[in-house]
Amino acid sequence: RNFRHSSPYSKFLVLLAVSTGGGIGLVAYSDAKSDHPSSDTKKKKVVVLGTGWAGTSFLKDVDCTKYDVQVVSPRNYFMFTPLLPSVTCGSVEARSIVEPVRRIINKKNGDIKFWEAECLKIDPKNKKVHCRSNHSVHVDGKKEFSVEYDYLIVAIGARANTFNTPGVTEHCHFLKEVDDAQRIRRSVMDCFERANLPDLSYEERKNKLNFVIVGGGPTGVEFAAELHDLINEDLVRLYPALHDLVKISVIEAGDHILSMFDKRISSFAEEKFHRDGIDLKTGYMVVNVSDKEITMKEMQNGKVHSLPYGMIVWSTGIATRPIILDLMKEIGQANRRVLATDEWLRVEGCENVFALGDCATIQQRKVMEDITAIFNIADKDNSGTLTADKVKKFLEGICERYPQMEIYMKHKQVSDLVDLLYGPNGKSGTKELSIEDFKAALTEVDSKTKFLPATAQVAAQQGTYLAKCFNKMEEREHDPEGPPRIRATGRHRFHPFRYRHLGQFAPLGGEQAAAELPGDWISIGQSTQWLWYSVYASKQVSWRNRMLVISDWMRRFIFGRDSSRI
Ligand code: FAD
Repeated sequence: RNFRHSSPYSKFLVLLAVSTGGGIGLVAYSDAKSDHPSSDTKKKKVVVLGTGWAGTSFLKDVDCTKYDVQVVSPRNYFMFTPLLPSVTCGSVEARSIVEPVRRIINKKNGDIKFWEAECLKIDPKNKKVHCRSNHSVHVDGKKEFSVEYDYLIVAIGARANTFNTPGVTEHCHFLKEVDDAQRIRRSVMDCFERANLPDLSYEERKNKLNFVIVGGGPTGVEFAAELHDLINEDLVRLYPALHDLVKISVIEAGDHILSMFDKRISSFAEEKFHRDGIDLKTGYMVVNVSDKEITMKEMQNGKVHSLPYGMIVWSTGIATRPIILDLMKEIGQANRRVLATDEWLRVEGCENVFALGDCATIQQRKVMEDITAIFNIADKDNSGTLTADKVKKFLEGICERYPQMEIYMKHKQVSDLVDLLYGPNGKSGTKELSIEDFKAALTEVDSKTKFLPATAQVAAQQGTYLAKCFNKMEEREHDPEGPPRIRATGRHRFHPFRYRHLGQFAPLGGEQAAAELPGDWISIGQSTQWLWYSVYASKQVSWRNRMLVISDWMRRFIFGRDSSRI
């Protein structure tokens, strides 16, 4: 009777016992928690905005016996975004990749309250967030309410970036939410059914089957690959007369797709798409979208081209949400594009507000502010100038103090940074920079440097890091100097956040995938696809999701994808 509520481990034991004929004694076991534990008003109030990667990983790890934790999110579930492109073509079902927040809360011993609502305004002066629920449950019809906090965790992610291109919001699909993926799935089938209707000209049929993806990043590429597989593995048998009319185009403003990956991966993806007949339009920028045509400009010569389309998926990166822009204005960050935090994820300019995941970025202004200190430390013999050799030696040691530099160096290597500071010819170590030259060079490096990528990995690690800090907060209050390593710098009670890059995948369809693995390993091919299956199965947040996702993959292998337009 309690099987549904028991832990995955107990379920496993039950299934094992039942399957071996000895389950009767085990079925009564359950670890279900009380639904509404009483809340302690003396506890500090922690309000978490968002139930995505960052918010959920914080919730999973925070010790809620120490805090009165409240969660506000318009979504009452966590979604495993890396499998969202698979939902668009029915390789995986939508419900398989979501986990209800209340199940996550239920697994915790303490008291977490969840409000299904959207935060409309953050008021850091009065330590309040103003929210609006999607439901009109109040007797007086009011849907708005406010929640007070002692600590605020902002983890509301980002919105799709349209670059203010006319017609995008009205005519394109985005791929950010489960609803988007389901809409795309219906729209693909819609295009096929409409193209199959009688009395259509050849051109009309062709236009309806013109699928356009704008953005050659990981999401756009993965969707193009999924769509290609859906059409060639399943729809070709159901719509044999239409197969030759289908065209998939990927429009990318840069010179290559997957440019954030290693060059070998980017080239492999381009060659594979070429073989698959996917039209790659690199070096084109979309300037307008109407209800029938997409207009783009060739970057090299400014020539304008138009392409009729059946469906467009817009996937060109992320932008800051309006509520964050309002907060930035209020706290003096109006001149920035993204909300800035320090290395401890504290929002600069307001007290007890932390921001993590896609909605914020760790800024390295601290490094810039300390340029003179950096210079003086590197210039140990007080000569007033720095040689490339001195800088190199110093940079190798600086990681300890400035973790963002370490992140940078992981990707660029110390010698590259020296290259940027001194130019390839100054690398020999003889060219000397004065403090002013050094300042100018480092500021240039700063503007060219991209720090943490907006990925689930970063968001999840930040959530876990912050939860650990919160769990130790009380303890550290009695020992304000913090851990000995940090005490030397006298800066903070906790170690700063450090990102561990665990690699990234690019599924390319046809059971082929590419991966950048830790230690700069590159893996491409069918074996990498199997690695992708095992990593993504293991990364699911619950056993329920894991079983559902694996069974979806098996269903697809055996029966193919479901093409009903429901
Ligand atoms: P999100 O996960 O977006 O969560 C934001 C949360 O805030 C949501 O619960 C939302 O409902 C809530 N929210 C929004 N507005 C409000 C508000 N006003 N008030 C309260 N709550 C609000 N990353 C990888 O590392 N690997 C991948 O393979 C990968 N694939 C991806 C595929 C797709 C299709 C997409 C869209 C993204 C992918 N990413 C991947 C990126 C990754 O999903 C994001 O970096 C990650 O979701 C960021 O986590 P987050 O918690 O900051 O935001």
